Amino acid sequence: MRGGPRAYSDRITRLPGLVMSSVGDCALCEKCSRACFLGAVRVEAGGPVFSDSCKGCGRCADACPRRNIRIRLDPDVDTEAALMRRIGARTDIE
Ligand code: SF4
Ligand code: SF4
Repeated sequence: MRGGPRAYSDRITRLPGLVMSSVGDCALCEKCSRACFLGAVRVEAGGPVFSDSCKGCGRCADACPRRNIRIRLDPDVDTEAALMRRIGARTDIE
């Protein structure tokens, strides 16, 4: 989907409360940016920087030889409730 129509990538939504970050041990190898299917992470002098188009899929974290990319859930966001609202909007499950 990299460079493809926005209509495709817009269909994938990031999990509410999911936070991408760098733990500070970056080798600047750019394997993460090459692994991203959306071009949503670029590598700067201080390490990876994630754009708003990041979907939180984790491909970049898997590709990182230093396990420098951390994926976590913000404890201040009720991810489960947000997920259930999403599912509820598309089904008749209560
Ligand atoms: S989590 Fe997925 S979408 Fe986000 S930067 Fe990494 S590979 Fe790209
Ligand atoms: S793959 Fe890991 S070590 Fe390489 S640039 Fe990305 S975050 Fe840094």
